[in-house]
Amino acid sequence: MSNKVTQLARAELIDMVPYQSARRLQAGEGVFNEKIWLNANESPGDGHYQLNSQCVNRYPDFQPKNLISAYSDYAAISEQNILATRGADEGIELLIRTFCESYKDNILICPPTYGMYAISAENHGAGVIEVPLANWQLNVPDIIEKLPLCKLLFLCSPGNPTGNLLAQQDLIAVLEASEGKAIVVVDEAYIEFAPEHTMAKFIEQYPHLVVLRTLSKAFALAGLRCGFTLANTPVIELLSKVIAPYPIAAPVAEIASHALDAQGIMEMEYRVNDSNQLRKSLATWLNQQTWCTGVFPSDANFVLFRTSKKNKVFDLLLKHNILIRDQSKQQQLADCLRISIGSEQELDALKAILEKEL
Ligand SMILES: *Cc1c(COP(=O)(O)O)cnc(C)c1O
Repeated sequence: MSNKVTQLARAELIDMVPYQSARRLQAGEGVFNEKIWLNANESPGDGHYQLNSQCVNRYPDFQPKNLISAYSDYAAISEQNILATRGADEGIELLIRTFCESYKDNILICPPTYGMYAISAENHGAGVIEVPLANWQLNVPDIIEKLPLCKLLFLCSPGNPTGNLLAQQDLIAVLEASEGKAIVVVDEAYIEFAPEHTMAKFIEQYPHLVVLRTLSKAFALAGLRCGFTLANTPVIELLSKVIAPYPIAAPVAEIASHALDAQGIMEMEYRVNDSNQLRKSLATWLNQQTWCTGVFPSDANFVLFRTSKKNKVFDLLLKHNILIRDQSKQQQLADCLRISIGSEQELDALKAILEKEL
């Protein structure tokens, strides 16, 4: 099983030995005071900055143990099936750099979808094959037909900017058809808003399934730049050859581990609960407005809607310093705007302005 997946990677990576940093050879595991560390040209001094667990004069571990162990507990995934990255965006980029040969291989995306898949592919010189969503769901027969042309499939569930979940039976049908042919990446940046729909539970079953996660959305840590790639060990080992030797800064690991402890997860669940309530009431309100011609179902922390007064709604809010996202340039999204679920006060301010001035 590992071989089939490994053979999909860029040929030069298969026998490549990753950079053997001092920390990869001898992990500090967050504790640097028990030994004399003279192997990495670090400064022995503490400088001005001291974290709870360690000093920042030392290089961090390649994959900080506390962080991986905390995410493993949270996601119910073994530690060896997790790679921590600088946001899910870095996971996207690493997958493309690992599996696509420039000017030869392609990724497959299902627009309207998250913009970074195509951007990362273009940066790397990989081609982008589009199989548009049909009624916001996968067009499974067309995807299967395109499989021989693709190394990686990027499927987003819940989708951004569409907001809805992809049907599990479709994801399974694509996984069944693509084994040995392509890697199937399910981007779950918003899965905390509908956690029972995660595909992570299928990783053991499908060697070519990769799930992307992030602390940027439900965990309220976008500024931290911390995400996770979940996959079987052959995929994790390949990605580990391509990622930087110290991708996770020590302060990032410390804050992220804290966010993933029992208290942090409870707070995240409260936030998600609030956000889901506010999203439902915003959708109800939007549906009652004459200028709103459709609200799309969402399982994430935003609402996408269509309006006969797209520019007017956008500009009016902008004039009052309220920023929303114009999605109308994407295919199938003419006249569509996206509102992120902010605080209750922020959404009340938005409603008040539109009720008064539109
Ligand atoms: C926000 C987002 C990401 C990127 O998350 P980071 O962890 O902040 O890089 C990835 N995919 C989707 C669908 C997103 O909406």
